[in-house]
Amino acid sequence: MEVNQKSVSWTIGELLQWTTAFFTRSGIDEARLSAELLLAHALGCTRMALYTRFEQTPPPEQVAAFRDMVKKRKDHTPVAYLIGKAWFYSLEFAVTPDVLIPRPDTETIVEQVIRLARMTPAWEAPEILDLCTGSGCIAIALAKNLPTARLTASDISAAALRMAEQNAATHELAARIRFISGDLFEPVAVMSPPVKFHAIVSNPPYIVADKIADLMPEVARHEPRLALSGGTDGLAFYRRIAEQAGEYLVPDGTLIVETAFDQTLDVQAILQAQVGFQDSRIIRDAAGHPRCVLVRKAAGG
Ligand code: GLN
Repeated sequence: MEVNQKSVSWTIGELLQWTTAFFTRSGIDEARLSAELLLAHALGCTRMALYTRFEQTPPPEQVAAFRDMVKKRKDHTPVAYLIGKAWFYSLEFAVTPDVLIPRPDTETIVEQVIRLARMTPAWEAPEILDLCTGSGCIAIALAKNLPTARLTASDISAAALRMAEQNAATHELAARIRFISGDLFEPVAVMSPPVKFHAIVSNPPYIVADKIADLMPEVARHEPRLALSGGTDGLAFYRRIAEQAGEYLVPDGTLIVETAFDQTLDVQAILQAQVGFQDSRIIRDAAGHPRCVLVRKAAGG
């Protein structure tokens, strides 16, 4: 690589310029932002600090670390996995290839629950369950913004759950989040004492299994398959959640699930077919796409 031979004498400004052009040529999205995030990480500074150090020449070992990441990024490793962090709901989360990278789309579910909590008097100290917590982004953003809430976060992947616990500890929220390991409601069913929830939220795996290979290589080749595959039609988890959620919700409790933009109607039909749910609604994300489906458990249920 060109950057390899000349790097010793290259300034921060030149490194950014070269790498941005290299990423653009290689068809990598957000070329400039990627270059800045990787270089800031390699130099151990913030992105903003790069701009005050434009003329500086970083030491060769930092340039070598940067060059390594640039190669991996060219091979479509997501920036978040290279720098080990991602941002969600204005919070920083540690991420590894064991967890899905938090997406801005998923902030919709968080916003919706916060809004509900503020307007529902019965949610004075709400119990909230996050199924398939992954990095813990939903549960942690909720705990952070709802100081009286008690969260329960579950995941079938032990590695993901460790990541979520680490993130909760970083944000000093571990005391208000229970982490339970297992397949959807399985670990919830054995909680002692048993808990009923004011809200159950989930961004479950929802990609049609056969379509994973067609996704962008960042996702298809690098994100955990376990966090992506929603079975043959992508809807397997919604059916299972629909069947069991009622049992764990308080009367009037709310279930909110994230879906792909083209799955909301199917998921709404699945939830409406379940006895005991009412008031189903589709919620759009900040980009205007249908993103979440919400239902309420009937008060007498
Ligand atoms: N709940 C996590 C997220 O929203 C993980 C979702 C998943 O693994 N499908 O990022």
